[in-house]
Amino acid sequence: MGSPSTRPREKALRAEAIKAGPGQAGKGRRGVAVLGSTGSIGRSTLDVLRRHQEHFKLVALTAGRNRDEFAAQVEEWRPTYAGLAGPVDDGRWPSGPEVLVEAATHPDADIVVNAVVGSAGLDATLAALRAGKRVALANKETLVMAGALVAQAACAGGGEIVPIDSEHSAILQCVTGRDGGLARLILTASGGPFREWEAARVRNATVEEALQHPTWRMGHKITVDCATLANKALELIEAHHLFGLPYDALEVVVHPQSIVHAFAEFHDGSVLAQLGFPSMELPILYALTHPDRLPDSGIRRFDPVAAGPLTFEPVRTDVFPALAFGLAAGRAGGTAPAVFNAANEVAVAAFLQGAIPFGRISETIERALDAHTPVSASSVEAVRAADRWAREAAQQSVRS
Ligand code: NDP
Repeated sequence: MGSPSTRPREKALRAEAIKAGPGQAGKGRRGVAVLGSTGSIGRSTLDVLRRHQEHFKLVALTAGRNRDEFAAQVEEWRPTYAGLAGPVDDGRWPSGPEVLVEAATHPDADIVVNAVVGSAGLDATLAALRAGKRVALANKETLVMAGALVAQAACAGGGEIVPIDSEHSAILQCVTGRDGGLARLILTASGGPFREWEAARVRNATVEEALQHPTWRMGHKITVDCATLANKALELIEAHHLFGLPYDALEVVVHPQSIVHAFAEFHDGSVLAQLGFPSMELPILYALTHPDRLPDSGIRRFDPVAAGPLTFEPVRTDVFPALAFGLAAGRAGGTAPAVFNAANEVAVAAFLQGAIPFGRISETIERALDAHTPVSASSVEAVRAADRWAREAAQQSVRS
């Protein structure tokens, strides 16, 4: 067997649909749809777009339930399409889950920023790829649930995925323009708020404590995922699908400063890394412009002295078992990752509602995975069935 290479998978997920990058923006502004515009990534995306209106035109917006903020965004941007995915509204905008696909396939959208949280983003990702769009993907749950289906949709429709997750953006920036030879990826993790806590204290951590992320300000679900390290498992599975490396070639290291976003090792032993002060605006901008870059005065310039010492340490896998459960689900393949994701979503929601202690999140995931026999995830129906089954299993576990 030869060394792993990014080429086949890159071809699958990154088809040739987008011929004219924003670097040639003189040829016209690129249409952007933002799904999840009222969230952390959605708002950061609008901040980026506000600075680059000569290159991009916002054509579609969707949010979930936050009508007031959404109304203000619609008022400011006046997109061609606006829809609320949450419960039926007062008639101002189309509403219901189907608005995500309507926005994602809008004819004026060249790029779809999927910043929805959780499995709700899957249909929009698939539809956008089938329609030949670039999907700037923050919604990692999509790739975790249905990586093979996402790759198929990209091939069938000529769309492409460009990751927004900072670690995957870092890797993409390291491999872009290189002809294969990628051997190993090391994703960095801040370690979350409980990095140095004793195991017993972690198990009983409160919601308030779990939401105190040391380096990033994000939505509640991903912030809790960072505290359990389930987020890093989701990211390993995401990296496996995006860059085509086996799980044995994917690693995680704790890096509390969140300055180095990932390391990419090539088969000659050379290692490249991408660095920057923690900000999602840079990976968002890169996902819009890849493989080109736009000058952006809104991004804090890097200063190695201000960044201070950069430290690295191993993950305490015994204290944060969700990482190993997710990795095992990734290795098992088929419907196991969808079960991992759904059980995690249910457990995190229950924790945030005060229904279970922090330590029960990983136990809920473990129970669901133990009770599941993975089958092929070759159809949306199979993935949805596994998702439903896992939600029910996790709900029972949470109630017991
Ligand atoms: P938020 O919770 O801040 O925002 C989520 C967005 O999705 C909101 O606009 C929300 O609408 C909308 N939404 C929620 N549920 C639904 C639904 N069922 N259908 C349609 N829309 C819905 O999340 P983040 O921005 O933090 O994260 C979004 C995604 O990006 C996640 O997958 C996360 O893992 C990923 N990510 C986030 C990072 C970050 O820095 N935040 C970094 C890397 C990845 P409303 O608020 O109106 O209800």
